Amino acid sequence: MIIVMTKDSSTDQLRLVEKRILDHGLKPQTFRGQERCVVGVLGTIPPDLKDEMELLPGVIEVIRVTKPYKLASREFHPENSVVMVGNVMVGGPEPVVMAGPCSVEDEEQMVSTARAVKAAGAQILRGGAYKPRSSPYSFRGMGLDGLKLLQTAKQETGMPIITEVMTPADVDIVAQYSDVLQIGARNMQNYNLLDAVGELDKPVMVKRGLAASYEEWLLAAEYVMAGGNTKVMLCERGIRAFEQYTRFTMDVAAIPVIKRLSHLPIIADPSHSTGKWYLVTPVALAAIAAGAHGLLIEVHPNPDIAKCDGPQSLTFANFSNLMHQVHAVTAAIAS
Ligand code: PEP
Ligand code: MN
Repeated sequence: MIIVMTKDSSTDQLRLVEKRILDHGLKPQTFRGQERCVVGVLGTIPPDLKDEMELLPGVIEVIRVTKPYKLASREFHPENSVVMVGNVMVGGPEPVVMAGPCSVEDEEQMVSTARAVKAAGAQILRGGAYKPRSSPYSFRGMGLDGLKLLQTAKQETGMPIITEVMTPADVDIVAQYSDVLQIGARNMQNYNLLDAVGELDKPVMVKRGLAASYEEWLLAAEYVMAGGNTKVMLCERGIRAFEQYTRFTMDVAAIPVIKRLSHLPIIADPSHSTGKWYLVTPVALAAIAAGAHGLLIEVHPNPDIAKCDGPQSLTFANFSNLMHQVHAVTAAIAS
């Protein structure tokens, strides 16, 4: 349920609404928007709460949210949410490109990639230090040393960092070294991890699980938001289907569907969804045309020797080419 109040409702009016919610053993979550002030009510709603709340001063209307996810739903927050990453606006009018290698390997690889992707127009640098790998024998990342190299690349270029966190025990250290914490597809339903990043005041990107429905995915975002962290963005990275030629199947329709169901920014990952470098640019362009707020692209100085995901990684030249085409599509859909 959401309680819509006038945008200039007084602190006393707001406190009274929050107190009544707490008196019922429920949790209020308040957002002051530009147009109105909204209080979300989290928990199992008693039948007569709506009538009670409608009578309180400052309340314009009380709406039952029909979706199982509340804070993530468009019903709760009709305007698009913008998540600030440093001074980069994710969810604003311009698509944001996050680019870098699948995994951090060494300083030269990280710094040269950071410089190249920045020069081509990427705004956020990616790189995995803790890698979820299907096989336990594959390279599983450099851990803390990798986080330190990401920090070096940030110092060299000024680019904010996105990197994956795999376990609640690593949340504090990863938060210390990064600007956005990535929840990987394989961890989308790791509820302890979602709770742990929900306690941060730092952006989190929740990738779609390999076989997750839109509702399950939005409920994963809801976990983070219910913990008090509203700086959440989503990432469509392809789902498991029967086709073997591509690594996963990019669900382009997820982009407009999520924008309809939710106010959270939606990023597209054509690298993991296709698994092949020559499919990354066309699928990236499709995602931008479909309304994605940004892209996650794997880039490596020499994909042939990458320790992880080389076949889907773009060279610097290919990445620069992708960026030109992304700008062209962005301009075309804006006109
Ligand atoms: C990644 O971004 O490197 C990654 C492992 O992605 P996903 O969780 O989508 O497989
Ligand atoms: Mn990867």
